[in-house]
Amino acid sequence: MRVFVPFESLNSETRVALIPESVQKLTALGASVVVESGAGANSYFLDTDYEKAGATIATDRNAELAQADLVGRVLKPPLDEVAQLKPGSLHVSFLDPFNEGELIEAFSKANVTAVSMEMIPRTTLAQKMDALSSQANLAGYFAVIKAAERLNRILPMMMTPAGTIAPSRVFVIGVGVAGLQAIATAKRLGARVEAFDTRPVVEEQVKSLGAKFVKIDLGETGQTEQGYAKELTPEQIKMQQDGMAKICAQSDIVITTAKLFGRTAPKIVTEEMVNGMKKGAVIVDLAVESGGNVVGSKLDEEVDIDNGPRIIGIGSLEGRVAVHASQMYSANIYNFIEHFWDDESKQVGLNLEDEILSGCVITHGGAVVHERFK
Ligand code: NAD
Repeated sequence: MRVFVPFESLNSETRVALIPESVQKLTALGASVVVESGAGANSYFLDTDYEKAGATIATDRNAELAQADLVGRVLKPPLDEVAQLKPGSLHVSFLDPFNEGELIEAFSKANVTAVSMEMIPRTTLAQKMDALSSQANLAGYFAVIKAAERLNRILPMMMTPAGTIAPSRVFVIGVGVAGLQAIATAKRLGARVEAFDTRPVVEEQVKSLGAKFVKIDLGETGQTEQGYAKELTPEQIKMQQDGMAKICAQSDIVITTAKLFGRTAPKIVTEEMVNGMKKGAVIVDLAVESGGNVVGSKLDEEVDIDNGPRIIGIGSLEGRVAVHASQMYSANIYNFIEHFWDDESKQVGLNLEDEILSGCVITHGGAVVHERFK
């Protein structure tokens, strides 16, 4: 199997789909790996590192796209590149399938098997290939680091001869993978941490990290079979907002990570709540790319509210720690290939009945095969 790693389609993308360590492992498995010259540069992996790991460096992107059996990327490909892929080949990347009908159609027409990394099932077996988790984990960490850097005070308590400094207060809204890591990171930095999620099951996890779970009685909430949050009713949203306004007002940092899989993120922090926060406080909206949890957050901008907080809405925060984000994503892709590797044909075996593949393969054999996108 010939694997090709092209330069990412957005110059602003700092990650790379495969790092040299995974290239070495793929080569040992029996694959040959071709990397577009400079593909790893934004995450500090040089062409020479790839060559040492056994890859070939290519400069003719189009020729490589046309002969690769598997193209691996972080981001979805540009629409016009799909037709250049080899018929029958595999394409593995984030695809944003809920918003990319045209792209899915193009994959189907090109007879390419498109794997959507965000659709890898959230099961124990598939954990090693779960890129949503591996990237959200780093985004949660970096959200706290970013907030701490922009805050005009320190996070830990300090008892000094000049007096005692009280710990800063951090409020995490949404306790999935990113939220849990944000809590753990803020705790490590010495902050006093509170957290809230509509799924009551996370209360124990919050407590086990030494943070306080904010209880707001919303009546029936719950989660889907996959563990994702269900959408709240307008009455429940109002109850939630009232309960949280007080906590926001006393917090130095608010980190929101509340997403609804495949849908627009809920607006949780209202204008009133923002205006009720302390001057100099910091909000980081991790859901900014899917619509934002905070009224007034803007993608890739810091918005300073007059006499109020600063709202940070940077997208893809994991990209700010590109070395580790690439390392994790690359391991996810390698684990995917290795899990389905057929040693006889030296190719990825595609049994679409498989529970993982039926979850993440969107197109195959010239058709859209995924139930949700047919
Ligand atoms: P996500 O990014 O979809 O959402 C983040 C959090 O926001 C979730 O905890 C969600 O409940 C919460 N949320 C949504 N609406 C909210 C609202 N109005 N107010 C407050 N919070 C709100 O979640 P995720 O991090 O992708 O995790 C989704 C689920 O998958 C979780 O249950 C997680 O434990 C599970 N998971 C399982 C595995 C596995 O078993 N292998 C791996 C990863 C994640």
